[in-house]
Amino acid sequence: MELSRLSLAHAADLLRKRSLSSVELTRFFLTRIEQKNPELNAYITVDEEGALAAAQAADARLARGDGTPLTGLPLAVKDLFCTHGLRTTCASKMLHTFCPPYESTVTRRLKEAGAVLLGKTNMDEFAMGSSNETSFFGPARNPWNPARTPGGSSGGSAVAVAAGLCLAAIGTDTGGSIRQPAAMTGITGLKPTYGRISRFGMIAFASSLDQAGPMTRSVADAALLLQSMAGHDPLDSTSIDAVVPSYAEALTAHVQGLRIGIPAEYFAEGLTDAVRDAVERAITTFRALGAQCIPLSLPSTPYAIPTYYVIAPAEASSNLARYDGVRFGYRCENPKDLQDMYARSRAEGFGAEVKRRIMLGTYVLSSGYYDAYYRKAQKVRRLIADDFQTALAQVDLLLTPTTPETAFLIGEKNNDPVRMYLSDIFTINVNLAGLPAISLPCGFDANSLPIGLQLIGRPLQESTLLTAGQAFQQATDWHLRSPV
Ligand code: GLN
Repeated sequence: MELSRLSLAHAADLLRKRSLSSVELTRFFLTRIEQKNPELNAYITVDEEGALAAAQAADARLARGDGTPLTGLPLAVKDLFCTHGLRTTCASKMLHTFCPPYESTVTRRLKEAGAVLLGKTNMDEFAMGSSNETSFFGPARNPWNPARTPGGSSGGSAVAVAAGLCLAAIGTDTGGSIRQPAAMTGITGLKPTYGRISRFGMIAFASSLDQAGPMTRSVADAALLLQSMAGHDPLDSTSIDAVVPSYAEALTAHVQGLRIGIPAEYFAEGLTDAVRDAVERAITTFRALGAQCIPLSLPSTPYAIPTYYVIAPAEASSNLARYDGVRFGYRCENPKDLQDMYARSRAEGFGAEVKRRIMLGTYVLSSGYYDAYYRKAQKVRRLIADDFQTALAQVDLLLTPTTPETAFLIGEKNNDPVRMYLSDIFTINVNLAGLPAISLPCGFDANSLPIGLQLIGRPLQESTLLTAGQAFQQATDWHLRSPV
């Protein structure tokens, strides 16, 4: 039995039957991390002591027969979820020694469901990036080819899942940061509806776009993790107070008669042939499963990247104003005076991409430019959301490629921010509209690099995505392939 590829349900079953203990499983992953992390750089912090203590407690509960759904299962979380007493860096020098005095709702709920937290995964600094290269701790590497990026910003979580350094992981997605790295590493990544999962204790990048979600080796695993994390939280005023359905039930439904929209704008210029072919084959699979595939149009699509790069930096510039070297975070040495301390702490604590976003955001919010940029972007954001609403009134979900191309080389796009920004061209729209979307593995290119397809659903209809995703994974085996 290959422990590194166990599904969550299978692992939970083995633990319940006591044919495997959580301590054994946790030790297995800790050893594997020790062997593979020096090359892949998936984890920033490994919490060996905490993980083993949690595993022991889980084994005691399992012995008493009172396990909860995730009891004893070793998981990893992106290093922007605050974990009480455990270093949380956001992959920034600014927070490289920060130990939160409180716990995020996501990690609290996972722990309450019994999960064992192996550690905190690598990411782009403050989640700004598409390749994991802006991390203060160095890039994470793609296990399919270590010369390539795993995508970003949740690159470390994607690598940990794809390389079997945990059973499953949690990422966050502001413009594509769960789905894009999922596509580039051959795993499943779900970005829920904005507000479905609490943002409390998640270090903020762009508050109107940020959303946490599962990164897993299968749709069934994603359903299980979503179940544990979803739901209203009084500590996050934007979390939605709506009933959380049974996502396990969604896995057993059929796609017969499901109406899937294929938006023309997502199959245009910039898409590589390999990705187009794989996604077209996936459309054929869905047809064979009984779904109806209907061509349609989302005309505002071309405005998504410019709109996002006004709104996200605007929110970031405001959110990141709190890092001033006073109460927590990096403080420069020997400041001359207060002004010097603010200026140098920020100049030395933040990396180049973060500074670029802060400057962009400050500019578009400044008096005189606010109407021309920020207010205008908000209006275009509405047009983009309206496009989706019109389309999703005619169909149950939309199917697109997740990314225009497969994993690119480390260093390839570093000197051209706009080229880097374009890697999220098919995912960013979804965040602007607040919709749920999932990326599923659907093939490989000529270099044996994974390809992903994206399904986009109506607000709070994660179940429809899971139904379609599960049907696809039962009909195909792309999600079962693993890097050697
Ligand atoms: N790559 C996009 C950015 O750099 C999205 C990042 C994210 O989703 N966190 O902003």
